[in-house]
Amino acid sequence: LDPTGEQLSPQELDIEKKLRPLTFDDFTGQDQALENLQIFVQAANLRDEALDHTLFHGPPGLGKTTLAHILANELDVSIKVTSGPVLDKPGDLAGLLTNLEERDVLFIDEIHRLSPIVEEYLYSAMEDYKIDIMIETGPNARTVQINLNPFTLVGATTRSGLLTAPMRARFGIASRLQYYSTELLTTIVQRSAGILKVPINMEAAIEIAGRSRGTPRIANALLRRVRDFAQIKGDGNIDIKIAKYALEALHVDAHGLDEMDNKILTTLIDKFKGGPVGITTLATAVSESSETIEEVYEPFLIQQGFIVRTPRGREVTEAAYKHLGKLKGGSQGG
Ligand code: ATP
Repeated sequence: LDPTGEQLSPQELDIEKKLRPLTFDDFTGQDQALENLQIFVQAANLRDEALDHTLFHGPPGLGKTTLAHILANELDVSIKVTSGPVLDKPGDLAGLLTNLEERDVLFIDEIHRLSPIVEEYLYSAMEDYKIDIMIETGPNARTVQINLNPFTLVGATTRSGLLTAPMRARFGIASRLQYYSTELLTTIVQRSAGILKVPINMEAAIEIAGRSRGTPRIANALLRRVRDFAQIKGDGNIDIKIAKYALEALHVDAHGLDEMDNKILTTLIDKFKGGPVGITTLATAVSESSETIEEVYEPFLIQQGFIVRTPRGREVTEAAYKHLGKLKGGSQGG
């Protein structure tokens, strides 16, 4: 149940694609972001212009890639997909850019990980749809300027704080994606179950949704696992009994916290008396990078009210003690 999706098998990635909403109407939640995007897309379509460059930021699995595809769909254009770490030479970027048709979408995932050279190269492409290309080598080497078709760059990042200021300034539209409520995730689970053709009742859908860490990718992953249990241990239908049985067997926590979430809380309590403790110290103690803690784990723990950020570092809350069945002051509770 990797919230980052990095360890998904090719087969699971295929299913994830199948479950991906294709239109604004298909997409659940993120109402505020969506309402604005719909207007911007309609306006761009009306004027037959490229949509302004758009940045999505927020924790993994909340729908950034999905929205990039939806934008292309709703603009009725093609989308080219790449990512920051993959684009390591300006030449690769030039190849992509010169192949874009008018109004196409270029999606760059993990845009905060572009190399500085590539990033700088992107600036003029974004700003006035022009790039400089080096032709010939040696004494005849010179650059020529090439006009690009007007296009839309859609960037996704888990942390907009890691983007450079000039990069951020070049996005006309920026949307922060939020964690999903259990109610919205229930709708997503029901929709996905429909696509996977697995019967599920309301109670079971709510149970899965409530344990999905506010994240559609996790809700879909849990649904697939519960479906396995239903087919092997039950009659193929997902009801509350089989859902609870499966989730327990999968060691999914009642709040949807995963192993690392719990490890962070336990470490804060057991090793640091609940905090406050600095992010680097905490990261070392749980053997995870501070970047991942800040991008993936901490936002959810804060949103759920288990951790607070203070000027002196991270501190656990009463709710965390309660959740882990621990007593404040060190002694273990029941
Ligand atoms: P990452 O940053 O890790 O790439 P992401 O934010 O781009 O993650 P997506 O790949 O878009 O996330 O979404 C992950 C999965 O969750 C997809 O299979 C998609 O179908 C599903 N999903 C995301 N948002 C929604 C939604 N609002 N409604 C239904 N399904 C969704």
